[in-house]
Amino acid sequence: MLRFTALEKSSNRAPVPVNPPSSKVSDYYGVNVFDKEKMHKHLSKEVYKQVMEATNTGQRIDRKVAELVAAAMKSWAISMGATHYTHWFQPLTGTTAEKHDAFFELSDDGRAIETFSSSALVQQEPDASSFPNGGIRNTFEARGYTAWDPSSPAFIMDSVAGRTLCIPTIFVSYTGETLDYKAPLLKALNALNQAAVPVCQYFDKNVTSVYSTLGIEQEYFLVDIDMFNARPDLEMTGRTLFGATAAKGQQLEDHYFGSIPARVLSFMAELEIESLKLGIPLKTRHNEVAPSQFECAPVFEDINLAVDHNSLLMDLMEKIARKHHFKILLHEKPYAGINGSGKHNNWSLSTSTGKNLLSPGNSPKSNLMFLTFFINTIKAVHEHADLMRASIASASNDHRLGANEAPPAIMSIFLGQQLSAVLDEIEKSVKDKKMTPEEKTALKLNIGKIPEILLDNTDRNRTSPFAFTGNKFEFRAVGSTANCGHPMTVLNTIVADQLKKFHVEVEALAKKGMKNDEAILKVLRKYIVETKAIRFEGNGYSEEWKKEAKKRGLNNITTTPTALDAFVSKKTMSLFESNNIFNHRELEARHEIMLETYIKKIQIESRVMGVVATNHIIPAAIKYQHLLVQNVEGLMDIKMPRETYSAQVEIIKAISNHITVIKKNCDAMLEARKKANAIDNVRSRAIAYCDKVKLHFDEIRYHVDKLELIVDDECWPLPKYREMVTIR
Ligand code: ADP
Ligand code: MG
Repeated sequence: MLRFTALEKSSNRAPVPVNPPSSKVSDYYGVNVFDKEKMHKHLSKEVYKQVMEATNTGQRIDRKVAELVAAAMKSWAISMGATHYTHWFQPLTGTTAEKHDAFFELSDDGRAIETFSSSALVQQEPDASSFPNGGIRNTFEARGYTAWDPSSPAFIMDSVAGRTLCIPTIFVSYTGETLDYKAPLLKALNALNQAAVPVCQYFDKNVTSVYSTLGIEQEYFLVDIDMFNARPDLEMTGRTLFGATAAKGQQLEDHYFGSIPARVLSFMAELEIESLKLGIPLKTRHNEVAPSQFECAPVFEDINLAVDHNSLLMDLMEKIARKHHFKILLHEKPYAGINGSGKHNNWSLSTSTGKNLLSPGNSPKSNLMFLTFFINTIKAVHEHADLMRASIASASNDHRLGANEAPPAIMSIFLGQQLSAVLDEIEKSVKDKKMTPEEKTALKLNIGKIPEILLDNTDRNRTSPFAFTGNKFEFRAVGSTANCGHPMTVLNTIVADQLKKFHVEVEALAKKGMKNDEAILKVLRKYIVETKAIRFEGNGYSEEWKKEAKKRGLNNITTTPTALDAFVSKKTMSLFESNNIFNHRELEARHEIMLETYIKKIQIESRVMGVVATNHIIPAAIKYQHLLVQNVEGLMDIKMPRETYSAQVEIIKAISNHITVIKKNCDAMLEARKKANAIDNVRSRAIAYCDKVKLHFDEIRYHVDKLELIVDDECWPLPKYREMVTIR
């Protein structure tokens, strides 16, 4: 049986040795990246300056300049041993896509020559109709193109087939609709910059641009490759659809910060080396709460780069895990009853002058600047809480949100005691009437008292979906498989929109003759009052919070199909349209893609569940039952008393009962699927999959897991939880 071969193989594996290129990271950091340093070396001063300018301001790069960059990139890539190049992009499938072309072309007289023109650098045409485009294919031009994003440097990827130059690009349809995660993010960053600079200028005239920073903590599980291959459910859906909870799970919590198994350590070491070579600044690694769960985190970067790097990291993890005879499980919930995985998005704003806008300063003025961005972020999330919830909705993340181990599906913000007190203070002391100089001084003093360092580890709330952690917000509800570009597009857009509104309000008061500082405080105070409902410092996993949230009017949308409604609400449409991020057709298309993805995921899970239950579980149970029947018959033949086989009869009955319920539910599930498939409207179909098909999952699983506990271990076909989560 596959299970026993897998068990044997996995327990006899030695760690794969890893050799770092040097003991100093600085010797190899970014060697595979066409970064600033290499551009500087390969481009003339003038061209380099133009590229940098275009990158920093988000402007188009002139053809002539692109030609020179292409030539430089080519010679660098070839000197690095690359034979092919590809536009690397992030379509809405959730993985990355590439189409490789060789650097060579045939000359007129039939010789092979190495070429790479600016047009190949700037634009390519993969067939858009084979990527999800949510109806855009039907309504619009089918073809799309990828276009170079000069703000994310090109890099070289190794593979068994050689080396390839990868050029980060956006992906759009010919009619201009965005078909990927990057293009909207870049638009949102542009909107944010435009909205934030005027606000910064209230405090510091030197600020000329504002950008977002992001540090992504990635959680994941590792499982031995042979174990993985012996679990068809894991192989086809990314999670186990069956499995009784192990007798020793994570109850003892001895895994967290425990010692890392040698095989895993060598995987991590190689992942770090390869990441660092690609300029991904991986810095931390540790065990996570669940057995065989781990986390890695890079140093934060410019958000566009951080998102690209996370996508690249997920690709690398997959490849490197294979080398170490592991399979990486990025799914939010690979095992029921064991903690799931998330991807904490640590987000902040930074200025051209190098100031972190979410970091308190050491003067009343810089603290007022901090409070402005801090409170506007709270206001934005309060205003668009449902959209934030929608931005992290997926079939797999549904297992985490609200499942008492990850942030709940209710959006709330954790501020910590100190800052809550500061906001309360402002609310109390800013007056509707004109403030006296004494009142102003008192307030200024208080604002000035915000400690510069708020990074107090004791004041951490791990149950909040959106928490302030000293100098950044941490969006914790993002799922481990997600492309962060999506939630980050939402976050940056809502903050941009909010800052615009804030500016308008402050200007209106200023026009009436109010001083800037006072106008700012007045508007902030109004926001503090308006956003109270979303501030929550307590335990987000508790039942009381669900009740309390309801009282406060906060939504608790636990499933994806309805959570996604917020993506196409009137409010969202006008938000995205007025900030030039998405037009309504793009939003509708995206909405449809997300619903379709949801349906496909549940459909596949349902099919696999049926197949595994019918072809693997039931036959195994019957085999064991048959053994018992033979045993009972034998005992009866030799006229043994009834009590010598009554236990066997009990088990025989129990097996029959479980099989009956499993079969009944599999049949009903199939019918439910047929019915759902006949529904035309994609939203209704998704809801049918959620309410009518998925409904059977728990019931089927319950009885399969019961069987696992009574059937002879020798007959059980699937590796068990304990076997899978133990890495030797
Ligand atoms: P933890 O949340 O576990 O305490 P850290 O404080 O080390 O972990 O930070 C987690 C992530 O947040 C890291 O990737 C770190 O680089 C990132 N981070 C720190 N400061 C910022 C910032 N100003 N903007 C964005 N990310 C940041
Ligand atoms: Mg964290």
